[in-house]
Amino acid sequence: MSERSRVLIIYTGGTIGMMADPRSGALLPMDMAHLELHVPELERIDVDLDAVSFERPIDSSDMRPADWITMARIIGERYDRHDGFVVLHGSDTMAYTASALSYLLEGLGKPVVLTGSQLPIGTIRTDGKENLLTAIEIAAANEGGRPIVSEVAVYFEYALFRGNRTVKVHAERFEAFRSPNWPLLAEAGVHLRYDRQAMLPRRNGPLHVHERLNENVGVIPLFPGIRADWVCHALSTPGMRAVVLTTFGSGNGPTDTAFLKALHEARERGIVLVNVTQCVGGRVEQGRYVTSQAFAEMGVVSGHDLTVEAAITKLMFLFGQELSAEEVARHVQVPLCGEMSVS
Ligand code: ASP
Repeated sequence: MSERSRVLIIYTGGTIGMMADPRSGALLPMDMAHLELHVPELERIDVDLDAVSFERPIDSSDMRPADWITMARIIGERYDRHDGFVVLHGSDTMAYTASALSYLLEGLGKPVVLTGSQLPIGTIRTDGKENLLTAIEIAAANEGGRPIVSEVAVYFEYALFRGNRTVKVHAERFEAFRSPNWPLLAEAGVHLRYDRQAMLPRRNGPLHVHERLNENVGVIPLFPGIRADWVCHALSTPGMRAVVLTTFGSGNGPTDTAFLKALHEARERGIVLVNVTQCVGGRVEQGRYVTSQAFAEMGVVSGHDLTVEAAITKLMFLFGQELSAEEVARHVQVPLCGEMSVS
């Protein structure tokens, strides 16, 4: 007889566990008991469940890098006791958390499935119940005692995505997420169909939990008419180590001299600049157009097909490892855990 899987639910907050404040009508995070009350199915599920909750569950807009480290630590502490982990989280910043966890949990060999919902679990048309129950099923799934998924993933509306490839694409639809540059890891219908080709290979090594992130990073979204003096100002923020430039198309930007000078001066001060496209899908190819040649020449690093979420958290992670700017510039271009494909 096969043993039942043991899954740990980590409740951080988000719409899934919220209720309308009777006075203002605004949605407020409730505690774990509220969630359990509305999902009696948890009692009947064929998985041994444990749960831990943030002391104060939060809207994910309040999520900070320290919270990602708390989650990674919880997983590290319970790693040997559980077969899989479900992180209940608001959808707004779920892609950032999933990306950060993928770097912090080096050598992960078990499923860590983030999920949440667009409608609170207590409402009649909630998407939260299906998301939660299927996420638990995925976190518990194994073949001959070995987990099927061994990476950080996001489960939302019948689809399982690689966590560090996801972006939130819709504020209202139940299909809130996509991973434009990577196939689905699984689809849930009558059966759960896994795409093994799309998943990271199983790892048997020990888990190493990293506990340091450096928050001295930023993002500058380019737009026609962007002011060079404003860019210069942003790049001169004291302590800044790296900035993600979200560029047009395949990595292009203005060739305006003052704008390029602002970037060049930042490079001279040792700031790492990473080029990520603002398109939803596709990749950066610096030098394909004249409008990205200057970037390549001054040492702006190509982010290939990284999402902004995966790029910013990768920089926080790499600078957290006390690497020099040159080392970060090199490492950011190398895939760590399936977050980018280098052509
Ligand atoms: N504002 C909510 C959050 O991110 C939205 C959600 O959960 O879907 O916490």
